[in-house]
Amino acid sequence: MATYLMALDQGTTSSRCILFNQKGEIASEVHREFTQIFPKDGWVEHDPIQIWESQVSVAYEAMLRVGATYKDISAIGITNQRETVVVWEKDTGKPICNAIVWQCRRTASDCDRLKAEGVEPEIRERTGLLVDPYFSATKLAWILDNVDGARARAEKGELLFGTVDTWLIYRLTGCKVHATDPSNASRTMLFNIHTMQWDEELLKLFRIPSCMLPTVMPSSGLFGYTAPHLFGGEIPIAGVAGDQQAALFGQCCFEKGDVKNTYGTGAFLLMNTGDTPVTSQKSLLTTVGWQIGDSVNYVLEGSVFICGAVIQWLRDGLGLMQSSSDSEELARRVPDSAGVYVVPAFVGLGAPYWDAYARGTIQGLTRASNKYHIIRAAIESMAYQTADVLAIMREETGIELTSLRVDGGASANNLLLQFQSDILGHTLHRPRCVENTAWGAAGLAGLAVGIYSDLDEFRRAWRIDRAFAPSIGQAERERLLEGWHRAVERSLSN
Ligand code: ADP
Repeated sequence: MATYLMALDQGTTSSRCILFNQKGEIASEVHREFTQIFPKDGWVEHDPIQIWESQVSVAYEAMLRVGATYKDISAIGITNQRETVVVWEKDTGKPICNAIVWQCRRTASDCDRLKAEGVEPEIRERTGLLVDPYFSATKLAWILDNVDGARARAEKGELLFGTVDTWLIYRLTGCKVHATDPSNASRTMLFNIHTMQWDEELLKLFRIPSCMLPTVMPSSGLFGYTAPHLFGGEIPIAGVAGDQQAALFGQCCFEKGDVKNTYGTGAFLLMNTGDTPVTSQKSLLTTVGWQIGDSVNYVLEGSVFICGAVIQWLRDGLGLMQSSSDSEELARRVPDSAGVYVVPAFVGLGAPYWDAYARGTIQGLTRASNKYHIIRAAIESMAYQTADVLAIMREETGIELTSLRVDGGASANNLLLQFQSDILGHTLHRPRCVENTAWGAAGLAGLAVGIYSDLDEFRRAWRIDRAFAPSIGQAERERLLEGWHRAVERSLSN
């Protein structure tokens, strides 16, 4: 039996490869940053060749570090930045232009037009998404309309489309397999999450030739084999999921009501809603978590724009600390935030407020307030914003939270997690393995090739680092939340 599961984690700023040993421990980890291209205000691109080369080179290096050959790798799992669009030539595997990255806003006016035409409810019903440049459809249409000859070539079947998972699979298999999984497909705004197929009506609406779309295959299963010249022999590619869904899987949130939150620059909350897609009235996204065999797990997704970034602002904007990790020790110098609230609405506020013109505020200052109160209040703002999104999830699904598992850079902060538990009135768990995204992709692959016989066996490899249980009562919780909501109200634009 081969020794390692290989996770290829193709992120927005770097490509990472992790080899997990049979105990699920990290045996080798290598990552490499690549170039961010900003051709115009609000435009973001990547070079697909750089994505590919950085990804394959970190894979070589990770193998080299532990002396592994292709025979030592039981399977590859791929996880990736979602929504980003790549278009390439079917025959040569050569991209016809740069990848348009999820962050790119170039199609904002196309989305405004679609909304004005009143098609959003229909799109939402079919895809679970809101009309926004974030998703792939308008970006792909943009390429077809703006790259010389692209539409004609696409219609003749000469060009292929893929999100980054698909691009990597195509290159890894030596241009043989053109495939994706439903967690990635469900972020394109072209995929019907009820029928689990590309949606003919949406393809017509966005004028996308169906011959350029990848085959959608279960997230855990054999996608194909790596071309022998790459690693010296064939390795099965057996797991694929978008980054947030892979993290939910890596956190073993397999049951309805399980939630994970990633506290990174922003925060991403995903709730497993089981085999039923739940449609949100309040701008949460309904999306596919993963498909194993015929069974599909749906999720509800909410995000917070500014999470750990508020700590970066304290560090870089205000110069209050040397490093983000100092924030905990500094905040502990005061027993509480003494009525100070920081509302980090630097780029407006998302769910449930949806006010693009809201702006950041610090409130409740008195002559006794000092920088430690502000730091503490900033840490607390991450927890309050998370609580707001969770409250809508609970309200919209009617599903009670069963478990909250946390990860991301700021989840190292114990004060944050204790306060989060206090404010939610729920216990939360931080796992020992912080690389949940890669671990989820490895798990999907491991299940497919029989390293794990079922989800329970995979779950047994999950280890808690620390649990945080609520330490305040309901009255205190309500008092704090009320103060937060008053502060948010004052940061709104009207
Ligand atoms: P991303 O993947 O979004 O780049 P990470 O998961 O690496 O983000 O997390 C980085 C973010 O977490 C930064 O915004 C940083 O300010 C914040 N952060 C890191 N460590 C801590 C800490 N100990 N306490 C609070 N925030 C932290």
